[in-house]
Amino acid sequence: MIATARRPPGYPPHSRPVPADPAVDAMVAALPKVSLHCHLIGTVAPGTVVELAAKHGVPLERGAEDLYDHDSYEDLGEFLRVLDVVGSVIRDADDFSRVTYESLTAGGTDHGVLYRELHLSPPGHPGVPYPRILEGVLAGLRDARTDTGIDARLVIGINRERSGGAAVELVEQVVEHRVDEVVGIGLDYAEVNGPPGRFVEAYRLAARAGLQRTAHSESGPPRHVLTLLDELGCSRVDHGYHVVDDPEITARCVAERIPFTCTPVSSDIGRYSGSGDGTHARIRQMVDAGLCVTIDSDDPPMFGTDATHDLRVLAHALGYRRDQLAAFTTNAIDACWLDETGKAELRRRAAAALAATPDAPPPALPEETR
Ligand SMILES: [Zn+2]
Repeated sequence: MIATARRPPGYPPHSRPVPADPAVDAMVAALPKVSLHCHLIGTVAPGTVVELAAKHGVPLERGAEDLYDHDSYEDLGEFLRVLDVVGSVIRDADDFSRVTYESLTAGGTDHGVLYRELHLSPPGHPGVPYPRILEGVLAGLRDARTDTGIDARLVIGINRERSGGAAVELVEQVVEHRVDEVVGIGLDYAEVNGPPGRFVEAYRLAARAGLQRTAHSESGPPRHVLTLLDELGCSRVDHGYHVVDDPEITARCVAERIPFTCTPVSSDIGRYSGSGDGTHARIRQMVDAGLCVTIDSDDPPMFGTDATHDLRVLAHALGYRRDQLAAFTTNAIDACWLDETGKAELRRRAAAALAATPDAPPPALPEETR
């Protein structure tokens, strides 16, 4: 770390604790990380939410200790309701600057994150003009880079529960207020309420403007992955665990090296990646199939996790060792939207950090995964 970053009020304890194992803990903490699937609203520490709510006179039903009820997010609607509350207290440029800074420092560099493509959801901040959001976020991004050296870009998220027309309007705003830091668009909120085909026009507009494209696919059928690739022109898929239900689509994604940005803890709680039993079997299936998998934390404090803990959980559930976990970072560098010069620099930094990362013997696997 280059300088002392400003710290937010505390993060909640991990929602999916693992057995104490100092060697594994030291290894996962030191591993270099590249973050492609993390939402700004979902990174806000509960103490910060409480402070911003007080600043703007917004009443909260809960305090910092129980603001995030991790296990209730098996119901995606309940999770999105809390997410909307958090989004509603981030209002002025200072707020956006603060939460961006905290996301990139306490939630980023403190966990060895070298680079983050942060998902930003303008529709999650009702009444706040996009230029004001951008102004604050860019300020936070610059301060975090100055203080800690972390690099970041922005992915603008379309709320898929809204109309295709609203998505086009958002992309028009992104194009009108184009800045270098905004490198692409994404598609989030509940897939069941917004099939990807609804957003073809918005995605074509983004393509014409030279923006990269990704989209969430957490609950849809495997054929939605084809819609993402062939109709929306996505170069990667967020979640996408159901791809392994279709061998043909899986084979194509392996051949084309399509990246899947997986988020173990949030997807386990949300049941996107399986039964919520902590086995992370879908992620293992995807890795075993040869898919390009990256690991991130989605909405870290909201799901009681962080960039280190998601890897720690995989080490314990799947027995992955240092080099297997480091491969997720290698994949993320390949999958990120920096240019080749930027990727080469990131590879150099990651290699240096990996060389300083101690190995650890694999933890004992749970009975059912042996
Ligand atoms: Zn997500």
